[in-house]
Amino acid sequence: MDISKSLKSGVEKLMPVLFIGHGSPMNAIEDNEFSRGWKEIAKKVPKPKAILCISAHWETKGIKVTAMESPKTIHDFGGFPKELYEVQYPAPGSGWLAGQVKSTIKKSEVLFDEDWGLDHGCWSVLRIMFPKADIPVIQLSLDHTKSAGYHYELAKELLELRKKEVLIIGSGNLVHNLFMASFRNNNINEPFGFDWAIEANNLFKKLIVKEDYNSLTNYKSLSDAVQLAIPTPEHYLPMIYAIALKQKNEVISFFNDKPVAGSITMTSFIIDK
Ligand code: ZN
Repeated sequence: MDISKSLKSGVEKLMPVLFIGHGSPMNAIEDNEFSRGWKEIAKKVPKPKAILCISAHWETKGIKVTAMESPKTIHDFGGFPKELYEVQYPAPGSGWLAGQVKSTIKKSEVLFDEDWGLDHGCWSVLRIMFPKADIPVIQLSLDHTKSAGYHYELAKELLELRKKEVLIIGSGNLVHNLFMASFRNNNINEPFGFDWAIEANNLFKKLIVKEDYNSLTNYKSLSDAVQLAIPTPEHYLPMIYAIALKQKNEVISFFNDKPVAGSITMTSFIIDK
């Protein structure tokens, strides 16, 4: 079926797709410009039937999808205030969506997982966007043995889910180098970026707008600034899942487009019509 044609005729509606720069877990409990940005973007999204989250914080060998009835809230970080460890995001899982993901992905076998839950890449954002926790949420893992090009091709297979009122969210950070982060005044959200971080972020945005998927997936051949921005790919890859799902008649709108702590960017985008 020609998707662009059916969209033009308005026959099929696609759920928007999001890439969220999640940054510090503290954004889950702070009223700041980033959490306010998440709150605002949630208003532009029709209430989904279920949410599929691809988080930087779940890497596996092979691909897994959470399939439990009640995913636990995972506090996968250290050194934060007690208040943050007390946060629960009790959204139900979705056996239906886990099954849909498994049958939709042809590129690889997808295994059902009963052990994970919702990590902070997922719940820190959803807690702000959908505070009622009444929408079922599942996570899809990142196979750390695969290339960005592989993730791009795999992500394209998820398009079918957008037609079934599933909201797909990639949660990571375009620029993410914790080794070089500078927490001045003990503030993870200190609003500044090193020159290389800003340069790399601007290049990513340019390539995203140009839909230059070849360059985005072959990021290891890009500039030195990009190599500093992606010391490890797990925060970058969720963005690849989001852009892989963009259709020709859709637009990308950036928000929260700011650097923090020198070496992290919160740049996020929504893809919709
Ligand atoms: Zn993270």
